[in-house]
Amino acid sequence: MKEKLLVSACLLGEKVRYDGKGFEIGEIDRLREKFELIPMCPEVLGGLSVPRDPAEIRNGLVLTVNGKDVTKNYEESAWITLDYCRRNGITKAVLKARSPSCGKDRIYDGTYSGRLIEGHGVACRLLMENGIEVYTENEIGGLWK
Ligand code: SF4
Repeated sequence: MKEKLLVSACLLGEKVRYDGKGFEIGEIDRLREKFELIPMCPEVLGGLSVPRDPAEIRNGLVLTVNGKDVTKNYEESAWITLDYCRRNGITKAVLKARSPSCGKDRIYDGTYSGRLIEGHGVACRLLMENGIEVYTENEIGGLWK
């Protein structure tokens, strides 16, 4: 039986992004040779619609481009994601870089100017704090070792 690997659903082509789009990333698809891929979109899990207003993290709050505070949706969805990982024995995840939910190490600074700062998305942070190994789509070479 293959090991389960959580993957941001948008990286597997699911049209769940804020703008209703997904990504086609062949290298991620290749991970099927080694893992059972489990697509997950924390923002949709948190009750947000597709499409939706883009959001960024500012001063610890997740705010949409129109100033709506959606922090609670993001936090709830992060816990749902962690709970799913725990119940299904998932210890590794590939998450979309720079997202306010899924981003790892670098996220947008909350000004909608494209500037990046150090930080994690809400779901990524919770998963990492609870021992899940997180990779971005740019780091998946680490999963072939
Ligand atoms: S929350 Fe994560 S999985 Fe969902 S669209 Fe954003 S980056 Fe992709």
